[in-house]
Amino acid sequence: MTQLMCHCPNCLKSLGNSGAFTFCPIANFNFTESSKEQVKTYRDQATDSKDEMQRQFCTNCGSCVLITTDHNTSVAIVPVGTMDCGGQGWWKPEIECQCNNKKDWMAKYAGTQMHDRNPTFG
Ligand SMILES: [Zn+2]
Repeated sequence: MTQLMCHCPNCLKSLGNSGAFTFCPIANFNFTESSKEQVKTYRDQATDSKDEMQRQFCTNCGSCVLITTDHNTSVAIVPVGTMDCGGQGWWKPEIECQCNNKKDWMAKYAGTQMHDRNPTFG
């Protein structure tokens, strides 16, 4: 798994702040039967890379619960705040992308790989 923060304008608008995500194989990700009916997809096409991102959100509470892309169909991008543990005790950013959009007031994280755009994954 990869821990990533994204500072792009789309994450800012979608999540209300920079996105904190865990990347994992899509094969390891499943919605529970009861939650499947509540998930809808917003097709975000106004991305910097021009690659569509499917932002899946809960129609009950509005939270973004999963992001997928056509660019890399093997990866599930999971907002860490939606996990029951919230990443407490294990999540810390390894990679920051879209750093050209990072706000001055945001913390500097020691040891992260910083990219002005999006890094290429697998
Ligand atoms: Zn983003």
